[in-house]
Amino acid sequence: MNSHTEQKIVLVTGASSGIGAATAERLAADGHHVVVGARRRPQLDELVARIAAAGGTAQAVDLDVTDIEGHRAVVDAIAAEHGRLDVLVANAGVMPLSRLDAGLVDEWKTMIDVNVLGLLHGIAAALPHFTARGSGHLVTMASVGAHEVSPTSAVYSGSKFAAWAISEGLRVESPAGIRVTTICPGVTTSELADSISDPKAREAMVAYRAHAIPASSIAAAVAFAIAQPANVDVNEIIVRPAAQR
Ligand code: NDP
Repeated sequence: MNSHTEQKIVLVTGASSGIGAATAERLAADGHHVVVGARRRPQLDELVARIAAAGGTAQAVDLDVTDIEGHRAVVDAIAAEHGRLDVLVANAGVMPLSRLDAGLVDEWKTMIDVNVLGLLHGIAAALPHFTARGSGHLVTMASVGAHEVSPTSAVYSGSKFAAWAISEGLRVESPAGIRVTTICPGVTTSELADSISDPKAREAMVAYRAHAIPASSIAAAVAFAIAQPANVDVNEIIVRPAAQR
């Protein structure tokens, strides 16, 4: 961290793999204190150890974003320990793609629960703290799926259109001290496609995901938004592979 950079207290949800883990590593390398949350504790503990070995500071918390009380408890504990939460990176997400006629209702529900309600729970947990201090920064991990719909992406894209709209809603409702950034990644290397159970959708993804960019490319976009001065609000960044159409 250069001596002019202010250290921020950052909670990254869904930090046990992929973009969340890369974002935590990048923000820690930039000198911020990162609290990493997800359900898979061993991966979080390994991440914290990697960050510490690289000279950063991090702590792991058990967090299921579908549990509002759990989410509130995590945010309240961070505020109690550190005096504040500066940034919530609402990154947790799932993507079990399938066509609507496959009728995988349980997977639709999971996508809405994690990608939409999980984001809302994060806002419900963090906003009282942001409002009390008159400052804070929500970074929502949406998707290029917040801008386009393709066969098999109806529900996933619907959840990401919703995430985009909810984040924009927070921006227009908030005072200037509260900043809102929506990051829309294209195909990025992670475990995301592992949740696709539908065989046809899984097969289609192999070609679609051939030109993935590293999760560090998305982490760099998050870091850029967070690094801006308090009067600059980067509202949206779309980052995709140069080869993605
Ligand atoms: P990963 O599958 O690698 O990571 C998803 C993360 O979300 C995991 O850490 C997982 O942790 C966490 N998660 C899932 N459910 C919950 C839950 N209920 N509570 C808390 N955490 C949860 O995929 P990505 O890194 O790719 O995904 C990160 C975000 O980026 C998602 O919102 C995704 O939609 C978005 N995105 C990704 C793209 C890509 O190509 N990779 C493209 C566009 C957007 P655990 O299971 O341990 O709880």
